[in-house]
Amino acid sequence: MEKRREPVRVARSSMPPFEEYADMIKKLWDSRWLTNMGELHHQLEEQLKEYLGASHLSLFVNGHMALETALRALGLTGEVITTPFTFASTAHAIVQNGLTPVFCDIRPDNYTLDPEKLEALITDKTSAILPVHVYGNFCDVEKIQEIARRHHLKVIYDAAHAFGEELQGIGAARFGDASMFSFHATKVFHTIEGGALAFHDLELEQRVNGLKNFGIMDEETVTLVGGNGKMNEFQAAMGLCNLKYIGQEIEKRRCIDRRYRERLEGTKGITLCKEEPGIKRNYAYMPVVFEGYKKSRDQVAAQLEAAGIYPRKYFYPCVNAYACYQDRYKQEDTPVAQRISMNVLTLPMYADLPLDTVDEICDIVLG
Ligand SMILES: *Cc1c(COP(=O)(O)O)cnc(C)c1O
Repeated sequence: MEKRREPVRVARSSMPPFEEYADMIKKLWDSRWLTNMGELHHQLEEQLKEYLGASHLSLFVNGHMALETALRALGLTGEVITTPFTFASTAHAIVQNGLTPVFCDIRPDNYTLDPEKLEALITDKTSAILPVHVYGNFCDVEKIQEIARRHHLKVIYDAAHAFGEELQGIGAARFGDASMFSFHATKVFHTIEGGALAFHDLELEQRVNGLKNFGIMDEETVTLVGGNGKMNEFQAAMGLCNLKYIGQEIEKRRCIDRRYRERLEGTKGITLCKEEPGIKRNYAYMPVVFEGYKKSRDQVAAQLEAAGIYPRKYFYPCVNAYACYQDRYKQEDTPVAQRISMNVLTLPMYADLPLDTVDEICDIVLG
């Protein structure tokens, strides 16, 4: 009997050579220094600062804690304007800080927060804007910054999808007051679980580093009411190993992206994210929007699943349609986000995805 291939999922974690990870963590059996800003934590922070072009960077146990801590460290109050077209973490981080999310609609061309609709949502309670570089598509950072400056608002980017990306040669880490990166196992670069906050202000560094370690400044001084967001040494070791291969990782993804584009671009009713000039991409995702196509998004998803291929409806439902938020918000208020979320399907994308499988996926999508 013909052997059925393994299920093809939307993402698959990249692993460094086992021996390299084993060598790296072996030292931990000698040092017994497993967490609390150890040697590997320090090395990874330095290397990532360099790679991302960040003036300051703080590692976290996961991306969500980094985001929650950023909002906390910036001392925000009242309302924070964000996008409903994102992962749960973005809005939850606002609410977990006792703040109120206000949802702004997205641009129809790259699905990021629409600056044209932003200003009308600003009230005297607004303290910040939290846009998302969704799928690694850059927000209109200039317009957002200009609006923020005029209204004295902070800007925190959810850059979970934008690891290593650059806009006109400027790294994603350099925009806004702070940017959060996620190093979850399914992301382009991972530390099993993990994340980081990048920012420019030295004063913020002390607050961020304090808040991720219970506000403990030294053995006898606790100055902030903080939680626990520290990255441990096993996570840092995975990061150091993976960072060595990040160039290869992104290059492999680029080839897969190109194959998808060759096969799917130009088909009536199928829209891929436009390749915008001046952007260095990381090819994190392959979102496809089906509008006016011979099959609906849900039909395409069902056909792929029947073949053992598991795409995801990222991001469906919109955050403002979640059960936990639906009594306070209406997704009809953000019609573009609602429409895209009904019609988008994120196809499998990971470095080791064989091009044959990409072809198989495209045959089903087009068939
Ligand atoms: C992955 C992700 C996060 C959260 O990151 P974790 O590291 O899983 O906590 C936040 N926002 C977006 C858009 C994400 O994709």
